[in-house]
Formats: sequence, C-alpha cells, structure tokens
Amino acid sequence: MNKQEAVKKIGELRVILERHRVLYHVHDSPEIDDEIYDSLMKELAKFEKEFPELDSPLSPTHRVGGDPLPKFQKVTHEVKQWSFDNVFSFEELKDWEDRNIKILEKMDSASLPTYVAELKIDGLKVVLTYENGKLIRAATRGNGEVGEDITENIKTVRAIPLIIPEDVSITVIGEAWIKKKDLVKLNKERVKEGLPLYANTRNLAAGTLRQLDPRIVATRNIQIFAYDIEVSPMEFSNKWKRNIGTQEEELETLEKYGFLVSKDRKFCKNLEDVQKFYNTWINKKNTQDYGIDGIVIKINERKIWDALGYTAKTPRAGVAYKFPAEVTTTKLLRIVVQVGRTGAITPVAELEPVLIAGSTVSRATLHNEDEIKRLDVRVGDTVSLRKAGDVIPEIFGVFKELRPKNAKAFVMPTHCPSCNSKLERIKVGKELSAALYCVNKSCPAKHLEGLIHFVSKKGMNIEGLGEKIIESFHDIGIITDAVSIYRLKKSDIEGLEGFGEKSAENILSSINGSKNTQLYRFLYALGIRHVGEQTAKDIAKHFGAFDAIRKAPLEELSGVEGVGEKVAQSLIEFFSDSRNSSLTKELLKYINIEKVKKSPGGKLKGRTFVITGTLPTLSREEAKELIEKNGGKTSSSVSSKTSYLLAGENAGSKLTDAKKLKVKIVNEAELKAML
Ligand SMILES: [Zn+2]
Repeated sequence: MNKQEAVKKIGELRVILERHRVLYHVHDSPEIDDEIYDSLMKELAKFEKEFPELDSPLSPTHRVGGDPLPKFQKVTHEVKQWSFDNVFSFEELKDWEDRNIKILEKMDSASLPTYVAELKIDGLKVVLTYENGKLIRAATRGNGEVGEDITENIKTVRAIPLIIPEDVSITVIGEAWIKKKDLVKLNKERVKEGLPLYANTRNLAAGTLRQLDPRIVATRNIQIFAYDIEVSPMEFSNKWKRNIGTQEEELETLEKYGFLVSKDRKFCKNLEDVQKFYNTWINKKNTQDYGIDGIVIKINERKIWDALGYTAKTPRAGVAYKFPAEVTTTKLLRIVVQVGRTGAITPVAELEPVLIAGSTVSRATLHNEDEIKRLDVRVGDTVSLRKAGDVIPEIFGVFKELRPKNAKAFVMPTHCPSCNSKLERIKVGKELSAALYCVNKSCPAKHLEGLIHFVSKKGMNIEGLGEKIIESFHDIGIITDAVSIYRLKKSDIEGLEGFGEKSAENILSSINGSKNTQLYRFLYALGIRHVGEQTAKDIAKHFGAFDAIRKAPLEELSGVEGVGEKVAQSLIEFFSDSRNSSLTKELLKYINIEKVKKSPGGKLKGRTFVITGTLPTLSREEAKELIEKNGGKTSSSVSSKTSYLLAGENAGSKLTDAKKLKVKIVNEAELKAML
C-alpha cells in the first residue's frame, strides 16, 4: 500500500470507528460486535504503525492511555467556572423566578421564560476545550478559575469525541461519573488486595481522573454527561453561538457532535412542571446507574439567559434544586483499627445501630488518620452519617456541641494491634502511602487475612473453610499457615466446640478437593501484593509452570502482557523472601497444579522491538513478520518498554532515543542469532 492509499484507508477507518463509538457509548445501541470494533481498531493501528507520519494524538487508537505523568499542570479557565445557587424547596424556587421576572420587567422584556430541567449528577465537573473541532485540553473545575490539566486521562473516555464534526472552537462542560456496579466491582478487588475502598462513585470518578497514569484511567470505564457549551467572552456574539437559541437546542447540538447527553431531561412550561419532574426523580433516583443529588433548572431561551446576566457568584438563569440527602445521625461507640492482608491499617467506627437508606448500619469506615483529624471525630461523639451511592456508610460530620466533656482526640496506634510492631507509611511508587502499614512478616492479623484470602473462592476455593472457621482454627492454633491447612487431621477438628465427626469429615474432604488446582489460582492464593485474579491469569498463561515464574527475572516478568513494573517488582520481592520459598515448596508437596499447555510463543516472547533504518537483507515488513512469528512484538516508537532497537543503516532519531533510554541496540545478524 502506498501512502496515498493509506491516507484514504486511515481516514475511512477513523470515520467508521467514530460512528460506532457514538452508537455504542452515546446512543447505547451498538450495531456491530465488540470483536469487530476491536479488529477495525487493530487495522487502523496497523496502518498508523506502518505510516507513523499519518498517526495523530487524536486518533481513536490513542484512547488506551499514554505514559504516566510526573504531576498535573495547572490550567486557568478561559471562562470562569461558576456553579449554580442551590434551593431546597418549591418556595425558594418560586422566589428565584420572581427575582428574575422583576429584572426582566424592568428591561421591558415581554416574554416569560420556559425551562429545561436536567438531573444533577453527583460526579466531577470537567471542562473540555476544543479548538477548530479538535480536543486540545481537558481540565478539572478546581476552584472555578484554576483547574488541573487532565487531557491525557480524558482522552481515554469513550463517551466524548476527540474530534467534533464541525470546525468550531468551544468549551464543553460535563459531569464525569462511574457506574455504581463498576464501583462495587473495583471495591471487591480492593478488599482482596487490602487497599482502602472508595466511598462512592463521585470519589471514585474524582480519584480516577486525578490518577497520574492514563492507562489505569482507560480501564475504569468513566462516563461523561455533557450539558453545556461555552464560548469565550471574546466570541460570545459569534454567529454560530447565536444559531443556538435555546438550552434544548444546545443539548441536541452536543448529541449531534457525538457527546453523551443524559436523556433524562424535560422541557417545562412553568415551575409546576419543574416540580413534577422533581417529584418523579426523588422517587426514582436510586434506580439509576449514577448518583443524583437533585435537579438543575435552566431558562430555556438563550436571549433571556443573556439578558439576566450574572450575580457576583453565578448566572441568574439557572438554579440547582437539591434532594434531601440520605443522612442520619448516630453515636460513635468505639474506633477500632483493622489490619488487612497487606498490612494496611484502616480505622473503623463502631456505631449505635441506625437505619439509613433502608438498611441497619453499625460500622462505618473512617478511611485513614488524616480523615479522622480532618473531621476531629471522637469516641462518644454524635456524628452525621451518610450512605452515598449505596456503598460504604461514611461519617461526614460531628456535632461538637453535643460532645461529652471528657472526650479525647483519637490517637492512631503507633503499633500494630495484633503483633505490636511499629507501623509505617510505605512507599507507593515514589510517594509515601496515606495509610499506615504493619510491615511485620509474621503478623498474626495479616496471616489470618492472608489465610482467608488463600482459601477464598478465586484462590484455592476451599468452601468448607469459611471466614469464621479459619478465624477460630487460627485462634486455637491448629491452622498457623497455609501448609497447616493441608496437614489438618480429623482428630484435630473432631471434638472442638461445634464440630462432630461429620463436620470434620466435610472440612477435610473440602480441603482434599482443592488439591488439584490451576496455576493461576495457586498464584492468586499466595496473596502477593498487586497480584489480583486477572494478573495471576496473565502470568500463569505466559509461563505455564510455577517454577518458571519463581525463577523469572524482572525484565521478563515486567514484559508479560498485563504485568507492569510494579507487579514484577512485587513478585521478585515475594520470591526472594526465604520464608515464601519454603512455604511454596511445602505447599507444592500437597497441591498438584494441573499442567497447562504453554501458550504458543517463541524465543522472542515478551520482547518488544522497534525497527529503524535500512536493514542489509530484510525489508522492514519482513523483519516485523520474523519478530512476530517468533512471539515478539513491534512498536513504532522507542519507550522504556522497548526491549530492543533493531537498527540498520541511516538510523535516525530512534537511535538517539534508544541510546538515551539505554535500550539495547541490535543489528539484523544479532536478531537472527536470537532465534
Ligand atoms: Zn502486625
């Protein structure tokens, strides 16, 4: 294919992919299977690799996320990001309308406003700037004047277009959110990994978009509802904007441009209509995939909107009508600290049981020490509690005037409640963790959590050993580590309180049944930090045998698809600890790992090559084929992930890049020698 043909093909593929993105992510009515979409995407990526000069940072192939950033840059918003005033009752809403009508009467404006009511999504406001139809920047709202540049993260969000089909320069405002079911799924993973949980979908959306690694953002399924188009004051009177006469048309325009816009909006002739919409959603709000904390009412007519102008704080033409929140108060009885499997220490509030959002709650997370300090919450306090997004109940306020006289500030323990070793903040990447950790390798509480993880469904799947049983066996000392599970005898169990012959036999047969297992289950069960179920599967698939994993060097581990530096480092650490190697050796005397066929690969499996310059005998295409045939991969640009630069004559900037990044450089003969 020549370049001219490639230009045409790439253009066509991008148009098709954009059309199907809109069908899937905006209209929720896909016309093609995901597999077909993926394969079109692969085809596009192939052409872009072949003709790197035709690649573009706004191509859909770049939605998978680029390299992590060292930090976010600050961005000054072109248009100040105000937020609407809140009202809490129909009377207040009516007052708002009366004030507006008075202003309009003074201006001799004859027409009365109509309204558009939209849902107020509990998410994170984002500001997307397009220049000549191209996304050039995305930022958080921040304090309204200055936000943070999150462009690389937003590019991974498929609910927004990277290029809009008209040559306009606009700012689009949207609310980012994450589905409740995605929050539940992610929190389940985090429980397993001993990480602190996200309290609600808003925290998760905010936490995700403020992630420095766009590749993580790409996995999180962020949604964005677009709801407003702004143009800078300089262009305020431009013709294009004047063509949009109403808020309804503005929302339709956003849809036409390929943004996801909430369908749950309503044109309202008057405030009585608005109140009906409000009443409907107060009853329906928990049926949606996202949190809703009220409705937003905007004057529909752009002319009236402009005539009313702004107060010092906010535009007069819109208002937020908030729902009464699902909150309650109760008494804080105790603060206990929990030790997770990885040693993370989480303070938990024990509460006087109270009914909230339909269920009785007696515990709430306090997240970490900083959060306790921020709230200044003490034992004996009356606290306000909310259950946000149906997830973990959370304390968000304290009635200090009701505080008992002698209530003391909570002091986070300096030592592990279980083993009494000194707690530390650990390094997470380059930073120190917010949570304290018990780093004692023989901590009983960590062991217990580790054992619960070991027998769990995704691990060794020993159904007969539930959490309670493990806990009591651990307490009396008949289970001390994972190996001791397989050494249990009937006589150890029989006669213990609550266990007869039959139940002892059941437990033993359940343990026996777990002895034949798959490699990934065993690997997952070991509870290695950062090795969740999917990662365990990826590693197992690549290596095929436990011994190969145990002996693998860092470079090979981090080259495995789905495994990064962090996971690889953690595996190396785990296996270099002599206790772990003797434990796994002992375990494998009892456990039989089913043989899996190593996935077809070759000598270059896990290696990524970049090709540059003219090779003596092979064309670039032939070199690429040769590498791929032997299980290797090729990429168009040199990065820290590149294993080798295959360089021929007249190699240009890629050679310089490779030298800078200390990537190994090989020639054609050396490549052939590897095979
Ligand atoms: Zn401990």
